[in-house]
Amino acid sequence: MPVLARTLSFTERMYLPIVKGLFFTFRVLFRKHIVRMYPEVGIPRSAATRGQPRLSQNEDGTVRCVACGLCEFVCPAYAITIHGAATERFIEREPREFEIDMLRCILCGFCEEACPKEAIYMSDELEHAGPTRAEHVMNKTQLLRPISKMRERIGFANNIYNRWRKDPLPVDPKINPANAPAVSPIATAVPRNDPTMRPLDAIASTKTTR
Ligand code: SF4
Ligand code: SF4
Repeated sequence: MPVLARTLSFTERMYLPIVKGLFFTFRVLFRKHIVRMYPEVGIPRSAATRGQPRLSQNEDGTVRCVACGLCEFVCPAYAITIHGAATERFIEREPREFEIDMLRCILCGFCEEACPKEAIYMSDELEHAGPTRAEHVMNKTQLLRPISKMRERIGFANNIYNRWRKDPLPVDPKINPANAPAVSPIATAVPRNDPTMRPLDAIASTKTTR
């Protein structure tokens, strides 16, 4: 998938945005402190919550994943294991098994960003506990969630990631409902037609192979 890279501005090359970040941190020091009574009172969640990754499931119960392996490849923690198999469905391939080791997962969201099929998304599920290591390796059945429960996150994520896609994902009205959350400040920071954007393959970069 073609990806766009942005040329850094002069202030960014001088690391000046760090000053902005430090100012924000300094300002927060003087805010009124909040005590959260967790776990009695849950943590507020929204579409921006980047919880544990989950697989989305079509309305007919089938998986959206086509076992392409992109998420497995980009996962920096080697947390994903996929065993693909041929299927009679039109997608031709689907995962026979799909495992995510939640003890390895660092909730980075790379799998969500890489997936071309809107099949894996960061859910708002934050808690995960168990006495054995094996219980933290979630299989396909445990990972699947109805896509109807993930639409808000999918709309939110597409708003962000389409800014970096040369060919933005088509907006499916069922997946990106009109009431999708507002585009985040991160997404609006760089407009899609920003003249400073250029194809990534035009940049001489060192590629890391695994
Ligand atoms: S969120 Fe990051 S670490 Fe976790 S499974 Fe996805 S790519 Fe791997
Ligand atoms: S979840 Fe997405 S990226 Fe991962 S194997 Fe399935 S289709 Fe490919």
